Amino acid sequence: MNLHTKKTNTKCICPKCGHEFDAEVYPVINVTENPELKEQVRQFKLFDAVCDKCKAEFDLGYSTTYIDEAKKLVIVMPYVSYRDVGSREFTEITESMCPKDNDTKGFLRRETNSLYELREIIDIVDCGLDDRIVMLLKNIIMRKHKHEDSKIVYISFFREDDGKPVFATRYEDNTTSFIDFPQEAYEHYKKKYIHLFKNNNTVMLDIEMMINSILIKENIDI
Ligand SMILES: [Zn+2]
Repeated sequence: MNLHTKKTNTKCICPKCGHEFDAEVYPVINVTENPELKEQVRQFKLFDAVCDKCKAEFDLGYSTTYIDEAKKLVIVMPYVSYRDVGSREFTEITESMCPKDNDTKGFLRRETNSLYELREIIDIVDCGLDDRIVMLLKNIIMRKHKHEDSKIVYISFFREDDGKPVFATRYEDNTTSFIDFPQEAYEHYKKKYIHLFKNNNTVMLDIEMMINSILIKENIDI
């Protein structure tokens, strides 16, 4: 099994001054092998580049595979085209270094194209929670707030520095707030519905469909 962290340098063009410079990219990030990389992933630092000529900072778009061998978690993040610097070639290099599906057999596998979501999945698993039940909870909270004055438009899971799980909510009027993670509700819904997810579905669409059918069962307005 070859799940080692892989780091390489890739040429990229500064979108500000046109200078060609080398950026460090991580096609594979194994945080069991390199625990120091986890915080850098959570703070998006591994996805930044600085031009050596004009010193401008950019977001790097490249595909990467995050691996936590100890927790048996693999998160695949394909090439993110909307970021400042990155290219198809870039991605060919990084993709060729990615572990094959067979190398992570039995791992919880997720795919995302957002750094925020990448951090969210890492945090959920670190808190020992099931991401599908967390997603169900988010949906329930949002639906229940639907008729309030300011609707919740987005909820994200976040692990605070002391390890405490919280939900960060953003409202229609652009204000944000943190709410305590509803642990009791989590246990309730987990006990009731975890069996529905027993096939360890990895396809997001399947998970969403499953969540919608649970919302209907729970008589929650969707
Ligand atoms: Zn530059």
